[in-house]
Amino acid sequence: MSVRLKHEIQKLCSELGIPLVGFAPAGRWDKPLFEPWVPEEFRPAAIFPETETVIVIGIPVLLPALETSPSIWYYEEYRTVNTLLDLNAHRIAAFLNEKGFPSVAIPRDGYGHVSILKERPYAFFSHRHAAFLAGLGNFGINNTILTKEFGPRVRFTSIFTGAEIPPDPVIEEPLCIDCMQCVEICPVNALPRNGYPKGLTDKRTCAERSEGLAARFISPCGFCIKVCPIGEDRTLYGREDPGVYNEEESKYDRLHSAWKHIRKYGSR
Ligand code: SF4
Ligand code: SF4
Repeated sequence: MSVRLKHEIQKLCSELGIPLVGFAPAGRWDKPLFEPWVPEEFRPAAIFPETETVIVIGIPVLLPALETSPSIWYYEEYRTVNTLLDLNAHRIAAFLNEKGFPSVAIPRDGYGHVSILKERPYAFFSHRHAAFLAGLGNFGINNTILTKEFGPRVRFTSIFTGAEIPPDPVIEEPLCIDCMQCVEICPVNALPRNGYPKGLTDKRTCAERSEGLAARFISPCGFCIKVCPIGEDRTLYGREDPGVYNEEESKYDRLHSAWKHIRKYGSR
């Protein structure tokens, strides 16, 4: 186990502007923590047998862009964050390869088009489970990983490496406060109230909404992550009051006018 290598990767992430990084041994996938668990063929060692450690990196989507959704602004923000994740995961894998540890970057979005998710709603690897096992956060009712820093407004990708790196502890205390705002705002009722992992997102219904938005260049939907009260980013942007998303509420007229303006342009 190399503590020094861990520090080098953390330093590299800091230089690359990656605020969240966590480490999970591949063996953690073989000890189910709840049911349904990750099937064997979706586990790191089945996908890349050299894997000893999974490094998970997280980059936030910026709340003011997200809260204009559905809009071209959030569409572009989402794509930018995905691109940054893919580029930086590749850089980290290259850094480890140069040191003699076989490493690969897993693509951020492992599907060709959202329409594919209607029939087969899973990628070949789950970065959400990886983020959970690497100690970056835990599951909320909205089926995403909530983090202390950004709530669910953060995207993840993973690097598989043959290096043995000291792991981070899984966060066991739930961050979700069961407020149900995510369930209530979902426009297609795709989120059950009984919480992950019992209440799984109706992925087909969610993907159908996303597909419709994608045709207009205003995907993804993101409503269930914009309203979540968890995350220090809410304080940064002065968005502690969830009432801000009630567009009938005159107190926030200035913001609502800005969102309406943005939604009128750059998309169908
Ligand atoms: S992304 Fe939108 S459609 Fe999908 S579960 Fe969240 S709120 Fe519902
Ligand atoms: S909106 Fe509320 S219920 Fe939904 S994930 Fe966030 S804290 Fe949990």
